Amino acid sequence: MTETKAAFGGSISQFYQTITIPKDMKYHLVCSGCNDVYFDDRMKCVRDSALLRTFYSKRQIELKNVSGMGRFHDWLPVNKIITSDAGPVTYKSTELAAELGLNNLHICFNGYWPEKGAFIKTCSFKELEAFPTVERTRGSGRSLVLASAGNTARAFAHASALTGIDVYIVVPASAKPRMWLPEEPTDSIHLIQMGKNCDYTDSIHLAERLSSLPGMQPEGGARNVARRDGMGTVMLDAAFSMNRMPDHYFQAIGSGTGGIAAWEASLRLLEDGRFGMRLPELHLSQNLPFAPMYNAWKAGRREIIKDLDMPNPKKLIHEMYADILSNREPPYFIGGGVYDALCSTNGTMYGISNSDARTAQQLFESYEGIDIFPPAAVAVASLIEAVNNQKVEAEDYILLNITGGGVKRLEMDYRMYRIEPAVHAENASVPLEEIIGEKVMA
Ligand SMILES: *Cc1c(COP(=O)(O)O)cnc(C)c1O
Repeated sequence: MTETKAAFGGSISQFYQTITIPKDMKYHLVCSGCNDVYFDDRMKCVRDSALLRTFYSKRQIELKNVSGMGRFHDWLPVNKIITSDAGPVTYKSTELAAELGLNNLHICFNGYWPEKGAFIKTCSFKELEAFPTVERTRGSGRSLVLASAGNTARAFAHASALTGIDVYIVVPASAKPRMWLPEEPTDSIHLIQMGKNCDYTDSIHLAERLSSLPGMQPEGGARNVARRDGMGTVMLDAAFSMNRMPDHYFQAIGSGTGGIAAWEASLRLLEDGRFGMRLPELHLSQNLPFAPMYNAWKAGRREIIKDLDMPNPKKLIHEMYADILSNREPPYFIGGGVYDALCSTNGTMYGISNSDARTAQQLFESYEGIDIFPPAAVAVASLIEAVNNQKVEAEDYILLNITGGGVKRLEMDYRMYRIEPAVHAENASVPLEEIIGEKVMA
């Protein structure tokens, strides 16, 4: 494929006048740092480390007539329409809204709640990342490699079971209780479980080594536009449901990829023209005591300083209620990352205590009538804090991203199957032959 470069500094509309996009291309990639343009699928700009961003040839999105996230096909970097019925579901809250004195609180539920039309059976918005990513891997003949603290593993394992695409998933031991599927695991799923003293970051490092082997494709994390645009469907679903963009977007973050994705989706909606002219303010929350991005943002820094923002990480992570939010290397400072997203949207960060998260969880579950995951409870707590501190007003349009929930509801309808590890890895530097066997190494 060809690769074209056109350095550019200007508005998006001006930008479109400077390049010629091949007619049959659904999308191309633009570096959010230097505006270099790429027509091939890649993770990195040759010039700098900023995130590449998708530009779709359809400036106005038209919904496809399918259920699930495939509705937003125009703005997903895949050629075949995703047919899974899993997708984000936005509804207007009445009970929690009344309790908080909010007149336009909209909840985007990402999980299993059939009464609301929500069919994400691995129960988190990671499934929105998994389907487009797996779809892009199809045809390459490669296997996908990823690291996960739990929800991502389940989402990609599920997508693997439904598509037959091979995935190698590295998880820390703490993720074990989260390794289940709503269907029988297939041979295409290869689970690698790490030793007791390893955390999510160790899993990332082992996955990095594994993905450098021939035939392996790194899933790419925040750099993977299929992941970000998949998560971005939350903002799209909300915009169609509300007939406008929200004024405020609330989400709990560990890597912040969902926050970046929400920002990017709203940039597209802005260009679309039908959903308002103001970007939603990002309200992103972390769970204390491990909150590196919250600490750096509060100090007004683009850099995360390890000794200041996350001293003794293992101990702090152990103390978290929503430990899935514990990413030690988040895409915070890089161009087009979390820091830029917060600056561009006049955003705010919140550090939420375990007890506030627990209280918020009970409140949400009793008013809205569905169980939610601890990270989603952190987001609810941040909304309560914003209301108390008058960061939002009664009439504001608010989007609360419930990033995961409905497991208890799922258990009523489905049998859960355990995903058994194919191998154990004591640490991130074990010889790779021990992990995937000689067949693949040859
Ligand atoms: C991964 C995850 C988050 C955090 O998402 P990021 O935007 O990637 O930081 C929040 N909630 C749940 C349930 C998750 O699985």
